[in-house]
Amino acid sequence: MFGNFDIVHNNNENKDPKDLLLALKKFNETDKNDFFEIFNLDSERLFKEISLLRELSLVSSCRTDNLLNELIYKIAKTLQVEKCAIYILDASKEKFNIESCVYGLDIYSEEFSSIDSNANEFKIKFVTNNLFGNNKAQTAFIKSNHEIIGILAICSKEDNSEFNEDDEYFIKLCAAQIAPTIENGRNYKQLQLQTFREKIINKINNSIRMSLDLNTILNTAVYEIATALNVSVCSIVKFIPAKNMALVTNEFNTHGYNNPLLTEAYTPVIGNSVNERILRTLKSVIADDISKDSDLKDYPKTRYEIINGVKAKSILIVPIMFESGVFGTLTLNQCNKTKKWSQDDVQMIENIAFQIGIAINQSYLLEKIKSLAIKDELTGLINKRNFNERISAEIERAKRHSGSLSLAIFDIDFFKKFNDTWGHLAGDFVLRELGKIIKDNIRKSDIAARIGGEEFALILPETDINNGYEFLERLRNAIQNSDFSFQGKKLKVTISGGIIDIGQIKNKNIEINSLIRESIEQADSLLYKAKKHGRNRICMQ
Ligand code: GH3
Ligand code: MG
Ligand code: MG
Repeated sequence: MFGNFDIVHNNNENKDPKDLLLALKKFNETDKNDFFEIFNLDSERLFKEISLLRELSLVSSCRTDNLLNELIYKIAKTLQVEKCAIYILDASKEKFNIESCVYGLDIYSEEFSSIDSNANEFKIKFVTNNLFGNNKAQTAFIKSNHEIIGILAICSKEDNSEFNEDDEYFIKLCAAQIAPTIENGRNYKQLQLQTFREKIINKINNSIRMSLDLNTILNTAVYEIATALNVSVCSIVKFIPAKNMALVTNEFNTHGYNNPLLTEAYTPVIGNSVNERILRTLKSVIADDISKDSDLKDYPKTRYEIINGVKAKSILIVPIMFESGVFGTLTLNQCNKTKKWSQDDVQMIENIAFQIGIAINQSYLLEKIKSLAIKDELTGLINKRNFNERISAEIERAKRHSGSLSLAIFDIDFFKKFNDTWGHLAGDFVLRELGKIIKDNIRKSDIAARIGGEEFALILPETDINNGYEFLERLRNAIQNSDFSFQGKKLKVTISGGIIDIGQIKNKNIEINSLIRESIEQADSLLYKAKKHGRNRICMQ
């Protein structure tokens, strides 16, 4: 717009400033021809003013924090005034606030640093006059898309002269020129904030994708949120309805610690207004100042408060959904001062809580699938498929270390009759109880599996046949002596089993799967020998 200015300036010296200002008005009124005619008359003032306008349009600096300071400084210097301030409409559109320092004043009163957005011109003058301690402040609205986004206020010309009509006009022109600059700065700030938020969400989403460990995911989430939003505490709270407890499972706070749980740090689910509200509405609880929300008066002591003695002042609590219910909450506390949660904050936290809900669901599902693939649901012992894998691994290991390795197979005696007599449920109960007895009796390195309906197998590493036999006899005895109390009845079962030393055949140099098959067959035939010889006994090789 003013690109040819230098040439114009050089050709137009000693011209009347009034004409030049008129030229500027013409330009603004879009009568460009008139403007250029008069423009041939130049003046220092016009040069300065146009320079300023040009510069103002260029100060769409990326350093948004310096933006307003720079604008104020340039305007004050060029207009040769001693005091200058810019009020900007805040995000909630309630007030015009001074967001940066005021030129020409070291300090300014809090009282005069904001103007209600619906204030009339008289009120605006009153505030700015008081701000500057002078009753001759000039103000102009800063508009963008016909909306007022700020106020430019100027006072005290250096030459002590009064503001005249031309000054007034020029101040308006400055206001018009800086509007897009402020708007750019805001957009840039907004963009920065958005990028920042997206980065956090990405980090959390990445940790969800990369890690299968729920605890790692939740720790990453609370850390990222607490540091990004600069809140005192961010925690994951898990509801345990059966115990009516809401427990903090993961937490990050301004002291950085993520201590093991403190027993006092739980709240009831039912009987606590926040938790109940979450369960009832499935909506976030947002409070900029909890002392003003009568419903939150009983907001319980946070763990942060227990440790630091500082109460929560602002809270943002978002439900985390699990399957069709509430898993718990993602809870943010601001303790040292109140915090105004912006719509963007709430949206971001709700987005993260949604992602966390998915991660929790996935993790629970994965655990379920994993244990289903390995474990027999009824007894909690490993299943046949896993048994086959484990036995190969143990044979390989025994080969490497030339260690002994025993394999036992045992079976409940007359279990068909037992079921017929006491019912299938009683049979299931006994199977479940047997699982417990076996688990209670084996060593950590032993492997117990349910390989058939009422058939079990034991792999006993580092155990020779004699020790293995002794152990199995003890187990048989323990089962024989157990009372299986079911529906008021004391039921009894016995087992028969066979045990072999895989060490005996492992040197045969046969392929591992054949070796396993052969070993199981041998143990099985010993089991049937035990059955044949009267049951409730163990046969060894
Ligand atoms: P033996 O002493 O010769 O082993 O006689 P048995 O009756 O135990 O042997 P059989 O193989 O004839 O019958 C096994 C019974 O185990 C048949 C079935 O009803 C029962 N059984 C197998 N799996 C389950 C189960 O999961 N639950 C219950 N309740 N019973 C089962
Ligand atoms: Mg049986
Ligand atoms: Mg059987």
